[in-house]
Amino acid sequence: MKIGIIGAGQVGSAIAYACVLEGIADEIVIIDQNESLAKAQAEDLLHATPFASMVQVRQGQYNDLEGATLVMIAAGAAQKQGETRLDLLQRNADIFAKIIPQILKAAPDTLLLVASNPVDVITHLVAKIAAQTHNISPSRVIGSGTILDTARFRAEIAKHIGVSNHSVHAYVLGEHGDSEVLHWSGATIGNIPLTNFAAQVASPLTQESRAQIDNLVRRAAYRIIQGKGATWFGIGAGMARLAATVLRNENAVMTVSSPLSGLWGEGKPVCLSLPRVIGSSGISATLMPELTQEEETALKRSRDILLEATHNLLN
Ligand code: NAD
Repeated sequence: MKIGIIGAGQVGSAIAYACVLEGIADEIVIIDQNESLAKAQAEDLLHATPFASMVQVRQGQYNDLEGATLVMIAAGAAQKQGETRLDLLQRNADIFAKIIPQILKAAPDTLLLVASNPVDVITHLVAKIAAQTHNISPSRVIGSGTILDTARFRAEIAKHIGVSNHSVHAYVLGEHGDSEVLHWSGATIGNIPLTNFAAQVASPLTQESRAQIDNLVRRAAYRIIQGKGATWFGIGAGMARLAATVLRNENAVMTVSSPLSGLWGEGKPVCLSLPRVIGSSGISATLMPELTQEEETALKRSRDILLEATHNLLN
């Protein structure tokens, strides 16, 4: 199967590398306005394939996306010094208004997986452009949302308790950003509620340890950006996982961002993360987990922040 990646920067190349290691596609086409960067990344990645899987990796143009099952979007303008979020979004809006129709002209049946930030607002924008220009259903546009935050939450819980992170089931909901909601009340390990499990293995979850984990999850990007300028490995692996559930029609449950209206009464659609079932035709179900009063209030606040950002900034 052929897949495309738009944006050959740190995130785009990390996605491609994870896809090569996972062996989830036969052909990866990398597109960037900086063609020499895309060429160099493709050549470097091709040299990883003999150690991993038989994948053709190449730099390409939009028409090379013909027949692509999915296209991942990791392009974007970086914030300039002194630039407001509104200015940055406007520049990004102009970029996506050009990119999306070109992808869909070449590959009208493709799914669009979005990583570019602010991912919830950009996913809204991409879904809107895809619907307007090519009548694409919103269920075929999937924002990476809180997949990375969910992974960070699981990794930090696992580290605290001392179990495999594959045994931890826990989700982060809402915005991919400061207002995200760590769904503590629904977290389980080995089908046992997290608090109960933690107490049984003598690693109790105190207020202090919860606050520490919250900080490690919510502030992760700030710390990593301070240390190395950007984050890419986590989202690279996460996007490859997302691509795998689509390409293999796994119907896996992941916390991705997608347009949703009617959540607690508001009419306007907003993109935020909830657990969703994802397979070869995109999102087939959106689930609302049981929440405590406190979690529900926090999720409504996160939704309100995204509603304001989306509709004030883009409409
Ligand atoms: P980067 O600057 O390294 O790469 C961006 C690439 O986009 C550049 O190579 C640039 O040439 C390309 N580009 C810009 N405009 C283009 C256009 N019109 N057509 C084609 N290519 C174009 O940035 P990065 O570190 O790779 O980050 C990419 C995006 O991913 C950012 O928006 C970043 O915030 C986001 N990100 C998201 C997550 C997440 O969890 N969703 C995590 C990390 C980063």
